[in-house]
Order: sequence, then C-alpha cells, then structure tokens
Amino acid sequence: MNAPAISVPQANPGAGYRAQQAEIDAAVNRALNSGWYILGAEGKAFEAEYAAWMGTARAVGCANGTDALALALRGLGIGPGCAVATVAHTAVATVAAVEMVGATPVLIDIDPVHYTMDPAELAAVLANPPAGLPPIKAVIPVHLYGQAVDLPAIMAAAARHGIPVIEDCSQAHGATWQGRKVGGFTEVSCFSLYPTKNLGALGDGGVLATNNEALATRIGALRQYGWHQHYISDECGVNSRLDEIQAAILRVKLTRLDANNARRQAIAAAYDAALPAGLVAPARRAGGTHVFHQYVLRSTDRTAIQAKLRAHGIATGIHYPMPVHTQPAYKGRIALGPAACRASEQASAEVFSLPMFPELADDQVAQVCAALMSL
Ligand SMILES: *Cc1c(COP(=O)(O)O)cnc(C)c1O
Repeated sequence: MNAPAISVPQANPGAGYRAQQAEIDAAVNRALNSGWYILGAEGKAFEAEYAAWMGTARAVGCANGTDALALALRGLGIGPGCAVATVAHTAVATVAAVEMVGATPVLIDIDPVHYTMDPAELAAVLANPPAGLPPIKAVIPVHLYGQAVDLPAIMAAAARHGIPVIEDCSQAHGATWQGRKVGGFTEVSCFSLYPTKNLGALGDGGVLATNNEALATRIGALRQYGWHQHYISDECGVNSRLDEIQAAILRVKLTRLDANNARRQAIAAAYDAALPAGLVAPARRAGGTHVFHQYVLRSTDRTAIQAKLRAHGIATGIHYPMPVHTQPAYKGRIALGPAACRASEQASAEVFSLPMFPELADDQVAQVCAALMSL
C-alpha cells in the first residue's frame, strides 16, 4: 500500500502569505512602484515598527539571521583572536556566524529539559576555558524552539567576566521572560526573518534590536560597506541589506505576529492534551512565555513514531538531526565545554517536531491529536 499523501505539512510559509495576500500584494506593489529598492522608506518604517514592537531604542534590518549575528559580533569588535561561547544544539548558522567574523566558537551543552544553554557549564567554561582557546569575548545563547534561555543566570555569568551577551532570537520573536520580550535584555539581539520563522519574510531577511544607539549606528554602517556617509567607508563593512520589497512584506506580517503567536500557543495546548503515555509535553520555563516556533517531543523510538504519524498523513521534522560539532564541516575541530555536549548529542538523536504554523486549521490540529492518541 502506498503511504497516504501528506495532509498536514510540518510548516507552510505559503499559507502565511495567503492569510494576508491582499495586503501583502498591495505592499509589494507599493514598493515596486516607489522606484527605490534598497534601504528606503519601507526599510526605515519596518525598523521603526519593529523597534516599537520590541520595545527597544533601535532595530536595524539586514540580509538574513546569520548576517545579523555576524554584524552584532563585528559591531562589538569581536573577530580574530576572540572566542565566543554558544551552543551545539542550534541551527548551524549560529556557529557559522562566529566563524564568519574570524572568531573561534566554544560550544556549551544544553539543559536537556529546555534544550537551551546550560548556565552552570557556561560559568565553568568562563572561569576555566579549554586550553589553547583565545579569550572568550562574548556569549550567544539561543532562545530555542520559541522560549527564553535561563537569561538571568547566563547574563550573570557573562557579567562576572565583563563580556556581552548576544541573544539569538531567531526562533523566539515575541517570547517573553518576566513580562518582557526576549531580545531586549542584552547588549544586542539578532532575529532571522526566514520564511518559516515566527516572523517570516517571503525571501531572506534579518533584523537586530538594541538599546545602544551608537552600536545601532555602527551596525547600520557595517551592513553597507562600513559607510557612515555615502561612498565613504570609515571601516571595512559588508553588504547585508534588507530590501524594500521584503521590508514592505514584513510590515504587513508584523501586524499579525502577536495573534499568530497566540494561535501557535493554542495549537500547542491542543497537542499537550492529546499526548499518549510516554511522550512528555514540551517544558515551559517558569516566568516566561513560549511562542512555539517548534513543538518538540522526544523519544528513543523516534523513527517509528514519525512513520506512524506519516501513515496518518502528518509530516514531522527534526530540529536538528546533528549537533553542530558532529557535522562534517565542524567535526573534530570545535572546542567543547567539559560536558562534551553529550546532552546535545542525545537530544539530536531523539527530538522530533510536530506540525506547527498559525494557519493550521482546527480540523488539521484535530487530525494530529487523533493520530497522537492512537500511537
Ligand atoms: C534560522 C536561524 C538562524 C539563521 O537565520 P538565516 O536567516 O537562515 O540566516 C540563526 N539562528 C537560529 C537559532 C535560527 O533558527
């Protein structure tokens, strides 16, 4: 028998477009007819609206989330001769950005309950770094799957050594901790606007948020050849601009981000209620809100569970199948903390993600719940 067609995809950025199609089409038309396609009125307006939504002094658009991280590092003067502590259980982009600026990553293990950076191991590594590593000059924790890392503990550990924290918020647009949005707690924060993210462009995009005006101005220059005035590079920069069409689209999508996050939370609650014995609902960190970029379960029987769900027409994903330090490009050459990222390796072998996007219809959610109950 052939497997049934997938009737519930794991992600569906096209549905996000169709949900706001008339407004998005009008915004694209406005951008096209403006005759100005790079760093114009739409980009400026998006930056102002994103900063207002975040509650930060400034936001700076750029080409993608990887560049946002690299620009944040460059903006803080971090490059060759510096190490940066981050995690192995993340999109490879987090580690790639560190190497893009010539810095050396050192990978801290995760807390296996929340899948985010273990602050105790971070503190140990900052106090006693691995031999041969350049000095650690920054920490990049990742608010993974839609919820905050243990921010107070990580910020305290970094503060003891006088180094900045750069929040990777690419999976956590709108997640809060103590009633405030993540991305506003530290020196600077970075967001991918990849189409499937909680706030997604219809192409590539990225944005940084900060309360430091001087840093925002420097990053704004670094993203365009280091120009502080047109055609004059005060320092060496890159080309990493957010284009006007994407900015116009993002302005429309930003108006629905809070409602979309609430819908993700409602879908997560429905899944929670349908979980069979042996599958544990994703842990929500006390004091925070989870915006469910992904709804992640874990099992030593992952392959069989994914196959059963597939037989019900339900697609699942794995975020991520290999921790960064075991991937061919990185294997054997990345410094790890004393925990050797064992919890990250274990998580990679067991996690899987259910369908999660705001446009999932109630009958599709019910279909996933019924399939979960039949496992
Ligand atoms: C998506 C993502 C990135 C990279 O973003 P791009 O826009 O694809 O460059 C970085 N970090 C995390 C945690 C992500 O999920």
